[in-house]
Amino acid sequence: MDSGREYPNPFSRCPECGLVTEPRRLDYVAAAHGRIDWGHPVVVTCLACDRPHELTPLDVLELDGFHECDQCGQMTPCPEEAARLHCLRCGALACRPVLHDPVARPETVV
Ligand SMILES: [Zn+2]
Ligand SMILES: [Zn+2]
Repeated sequence: MDSGREYPNPFSRCPECGLVTEPRRLDYVAAAHGRIDWGHPVVVTCLACDRPHELTPLDVLELDGFHECDQCGQMTPCPEEAARLHCLRCGALACRPVLHDPVARPETVV
């Protein structure tokens, strides 16, 4: 099966590198309608650091923003803080500037 991106494609914050990414790889048990069966362990592999971590429904971030593709202009829904994702249309990998980088935090305006 290779018809572009299939959902579910949950974004989460990687506990290893701290970046918000879509999964490079998602290991889960499918429930009805292709949804994730959260009764079984769900493991995602981070698109940024390639390390696996377990995912719970609480870890899944809302798609509260969009990324505009440099290549084709497609608007791909993603969390506002997403650092790595693929374009929904052309599949180009996007590296977005991280707004809330937990490591290199920009100066905080009080
Ligand atoms: Zn990571
Ligand atoms: Zn694109």
